[in-house]
Amino acid sequence: MFKSILTGTVNCLILFMLVGIAGKTNASPIDNPRADEIYQLFDSGKFLSDDDISKLLQEYKDSLASNDVARQQLHTRLTCWNLPADNSEQMKAAVRFADEHLKIYHQATPSLIQIDLQLCKTWFLHYLGKNDTLFADLDTAIDNAYLLEDPRLIADGRSIRGTILSYMGNFSAALEDLITAQNLYETLNLPYWANVNLGELANSYRRFGDAENALKYQLKLEQYYRQQNQLFAANKINNEIAMSLEELARYQEAIVRYQKGRDFWLSENEITAAADASISIGGNLIHLNRLDEAKAILEQAEKQIKSDNEGSYSYMNLYLANVHNKLNNNTQALEYIQKAEQAFSDSENARGLNSALRLKSQIYQDLALWQEAYNSLLAYVDSHLALDKQTMSDRNTEMQTRFNTDKIQSENEWLVQRDKDKEQQLQILQRNEQMQIIIIILVAIILVIVSVFAYKQLMRKKQFKVLALTDDLTKLSNRRDTYAQGQHFLKAAQQSAKPFSIISFDADHFKKVNDTLGHEIGDKVLVKLASICSSMMRETDVVGRVGGEEFLVLLPNIDKTKAIEIANRLIDTIANYDWSQLSPHLEQTISAGVASYSNETELSPLLLKADKALYSAKAAGRNCVKAE
Ligand code: GH3
Ligand code: MG
Ligand code: MG
Repeated sequence: MFKSILTGTVNCLILFMLVGIAGKTNASPIDNPRADEIYQLFDSGKFLSDDDISKLLQEYKDSLASNDVARQQLHTRLTCWNLPADNSEQMKAAVRFADEHLKIYHQATPSLIQIDLQLCKTWFLHYLGKNDTLFADLDTAIDNAYLLEDPRLIADGRSIRGTILSYMGNFSAALEDLITAQNLYETLNLPYWANVNLGELANSYRRFGDAENALKYQLKLEQYYRQQNQLFAANKINNEIAMSLEELARYQEAIVRYQKGRDFWLSENEITAAADASISIGGNLIHLNRLDEAKAILEQAEKQIKSDNEGSYSYMNLYLANVHNKLNNNTQALEYIQKAEQAFSDSENARGLNSALRLKSQIYQDLALWQEAYNSLLAYVDSHLALDKQTMSDRNTEMQTRFNTDKIQSENEWLVQRDKDKEQQLQILQRNEQMQIIIIILVAIILVIVSVFAYKQLMRKKQFKVLALTDDLTKLSNRRDTYAQGQHFLKAAQQSAKPFSIISFDADHFKKVNDTLGHEIGDKVLVKLASICSSMMRETDVVGRVGGEEFLVLLPNIDKTKAIEIANRLIDTIANYDWSQLSPHLEQTISAGVASYSNETELSPLLLKADKALYSAKAAGRNCVKAE
């Protein structure tokens, strides 16, 4: 019995736990591996055609359950970032899309979707050239990303802001944003976005005049693009590396890089781009004083580069002027330097113009045109001072940025750690919830076991008590119990001054029943006598078996007359009972003695009176009632 209770409870426990776990699974986000795969594809930065983009977005949308709010929001975010932006009409439509959805998701406290849509909107505004109007939204989005402590959105926001600031020439702020984003992307292990950002970072360093740092990042990027077999991107970086090497006066290495780039463009049949590389090679050859080679390659490029290609055209003419000056061919040099000066002015290239003015002054000197040489020198000094001023302020901001970099790194680490901590806390919380359920179940099991034990003990005790007070054969009260209750009734009668009577009765000639019909029939007769008597008495009366075939009936609140009546009814009922049911020809009577309470202090004198009466009844021929 106990074992079955225990196994039952254990089964219950297992069922409970299963239900608990099933409940947990339902509470966790809805499974949708295909949607997640599509999201990953977009986030990996893999190149997708416009057709693929719309098909995949549709498939993503169709796969979503109606209650999958999280992925529905991701769909809106993906859609915004992947809207077509081939012309200004499409860009304006993208800004409208972001605005409409920002209205839908507007709420007082910031949310991930709200931040991402704001970033998306500012990116399209940047495309539209509205750089000065977008910073309010962009700064709010970044502030909110910090508020929500979401490292990915912080990285995205700061990468975007850094890119725009660098484009606008605000290098110190740009570098701070881009370095922060770089750290975050790398810590979050997002290589594609880390490299997109790294490209911007390198660009900013070079624009800023820090070729050494630019080179460091460019080499890292080149390796990545070559590993990914992204040849165009790798070639672009190769060219940027060459430019950094040139600025570091590593001319021979720069030439090798430019040659590599030129070979690539020639293999792609991009003649102008190849000529561009030739111009750069020429410039570096001049630095190495390989003047004939420089002249040859520059003159070759001259056939390809037209004046509308301002960037290339200006440097080509500067280098040609330089070569001719060095070769003492100053009339020719003057022609080229004038073309270069014009082109640099037109393209507002202050650095180029500065170099051109210095060379021009040199050429005039070599031509002994002193006034012109002096004028050019003055112009050169002016432009140089302006450039120096710019360089000084750039250096200051650089110092500032370098100082901030360490701070940024530690802040980022803290942020990512916070994110991990939050996730861990959530897991612990979920685990605790399960533990609580298990503990509740265990406590319940222990309670059940203890209660069952206690109950069984109680029942056993009761059973013992019943056994101790009951006659085994007739299930009536035994002598001990009957006498104890009789004593109790006597005391009650004493206190309440109410009557109390007893009937003592004994089976007549019972020995003969045993002797002629056997002990078994005798037992049956005793049981029947007990049940007839019990059925005739009130609930409050007590019928007990006090000897072999002797019984005692306790009648509280019954006086002598009434007791004699009851006793007479009893002997009549027994005498008239159809005893042949137990054995043919069997007849059974009883004799009864009645006694009533009259100031006895103990039960025994009363019992004695009843026994005397019973004796009288026997003596009077049995099957009758006598009273004392
Ligand atoms: P009397 O009318 O004078 O009472 O005669 P009697 O035969 O009933 O009285 P006696 O005292 O001579 O015999 C009592 C008999 O009751 C003796 C005994 O065998 C029998 N008896 C006592 N207890 C039991 C019992 O539990 N079962 C059975 N079958 N017989 C019992
Ligand atoms: Mg007898
Ligand atoms: Mg007897």
